[in-house]
Order: sequence, then structure tokens, then C-alpha cells
Amino acid sequence: MIDLHLHTNASDGLLAPEALVARVAEAGITVMAVTDHDTVAGIDRAEAAAAARGIRLIPGIEITAVEDGRDVHVLGYFFDRAHRPLADFLDAQRADRRRRVREMTARLAALGMPIDLEAVLARQGAHAVGRPAIADALVRAGYVATRTEAFDRFLGNDGAAFVPRQGAAVAAVVGVIREAGGLASIAHPGLHRDLALIERLVDGDGAPDAIEVFHTDHDAAATARLLDLAERAGILVTGGSDFHGDAAGRPVGLGRINLPADRFERFAAKARPS
Ligand code: AMP
Ligand code: ZN
Ligand code: FE
Ligand code: FE
Repeated sequence: MIDLHLHTNASDGLLAPEALVARVAEAGITVMAVTDHDTVAGIDRAEAAAAARGIRLIPGIEITAVEDGRDVHVLGYFFDRAHRPLADFLDAQRADRRRRVREMTARLAALGMPIDLEAVLARQGAHAVGRPAIADALVRAGYVATRTEAFDRFLGNDGAAFVPRQGAAVAAVVGVIREAGGLASIAHPGLHRDLALIERLVDGDGAPDAIEVFHTDHDAAATARLLDLAERAGILVTGGSDFHGDAAGRPVGLGRINLPADRFERFAAKARPS
């Protein structure tokens, strides 16, 4: 079983790297990638824990790109973790995360829902802060009942306190990942309302190496549609559960979503040109 999309508490996952690897082992996964949002901080510890259990760990990342004011998540794999330009780029990405969280917090205060921003930024030592941390603060303060309600009413694209990310477009993010020796894949393309955007992104200059076809939030029809899209575009296929821990109201695909071994081999082969 192969799962190339997993989060730790270095970003918005609930589990420390070691605890994540324990769950991965329990699920029977033999190849894994930690893909935290805009940070590689969880990888070293996950790699050590994975090695101890005979699990192969691929270095990964999930970078937020911006297309027309909307977030598009781009997965990177097999890159050099020590590559300086990548590290600098990720520093700037995390700075924009803090900027966005501050601005969204100010909007919430204006809506009569003040929350403790410093507590949000310090939350469980997360290296890359994000909207889930604001959602949890809204729940703790009693303004909403659940994370989902926080996203639906305030933090999602159409929410009252939404502030867009600022940063590089998909093609530039793909370039940063390639410069660091990695491969890029568009994360969970089935979650975008607009499949035409994905069609455009995989076609032009700066197209990614792959799209993520197998994902917890893709039903059978979406998976089939995306396989067909990848086939037509002549690009590779990745997959993973996007496991964040057992968060309430979120389906758990760990142990259920598998990137077939032959698809993984084709992807890995592109990472080490002969
Ligand atoms: P950010 O990284 O700040 O853009 O926040 C996006 C993250 O929030 C996603 O990667 C998910 O982990 C999580 N998320 C997005 N939408 C929802 C939702 N409706 N309910 C709960 N979590 C969500
Ligand atoms: Zn996340
Ligand atoms: Fe994502
Ligand atoms: Fe993710």
C-alpha cells in the first residue's frame, strides 16, 4: 500500500511525525510521503521513524499556489530538502500564512468574534499556521460548533472573514520544486469546482509532472474523470489519503486510498533519470 499525501503537526495535522508513522505502519503502508503545508519541518523525524519500521519515506511538501485569487495546492516529491532557494521560498510562504491569519483574525474581530491571535500562532508548536488553527479557536471560543461550520460560514472561499493567500502561481511553484530536483503534482484536483482550470494548468508552460488522482475526497466518478484527464494530458498520476489525524467531521482515507504500485514506479522513475 502506497500513500503519498500525509500531514503532521508541523502544519495542520494532529499527530507528531512518530505518531503518524505508527498509524501508517498499522494501516499496512510500505511507501509514504509526508506532505505538510509549506514546510519540510516534519520530514526528518518521520523519516527516522519510518526507517525503524522498514517503511520507505519519500520527501514531500504541499505548497499553496494562487491562481486568480484562489488557492491551488501543489504537491512536491523527491526534492532536495537542503536546497537553499526552496527553503527561502518556503520561508516566504509561511510568512504569508501568518499575514493571512492576522488579517482573517482582524475580520473576525470586526464581526464581533475576537480570538487570541498569539495563542493561534503558538498552537501546538505548528511550524506552518493555517485556517484550521483559526477554526479551532472559533470552536473553543464558542462562536461555532465545529471546524466545518467555521469554514462554511467564515473561513472558506465564500466565508465572511476570508482573505486570499498571496504568492506564486502554479507554474512558478512547479518551477521551484523542479529547481530543487523534485517532481510536482496538483493536489486533489477533484476539489476544484472548475475542472477547466486543471485542464489549463496541465497543458501550458510550467505544467506539473502529475495530478493526484487517488484521494479521500474523490469519489469513483471523479477518480475516473481525472485518470482520463491525466491520460489525455500525457502526465503521471499520484495518490494519497491526505490524512490529518482523526479530526471530527473529516473522512479518514488512511489505509483505504492506495497509489497502485505500477503508477508509483512510473512516477519514481521520472525522479531518477537514467
Ligand atoms: P490553509 O492552509 O490555511 O489554506 O487551510 C487549508 C486547510 O484547511 C486544508 O488543507 C485542510 O486541511 C483544511 N480545510 C479546508 N477546508 C476545510 C473544511 N471545510 N473543514 C475542515 N478543514 C478544512
Ligand atoms: Zn491540511
Ligand atoms: Fe490540500
Ligand atoms: Fe493535504
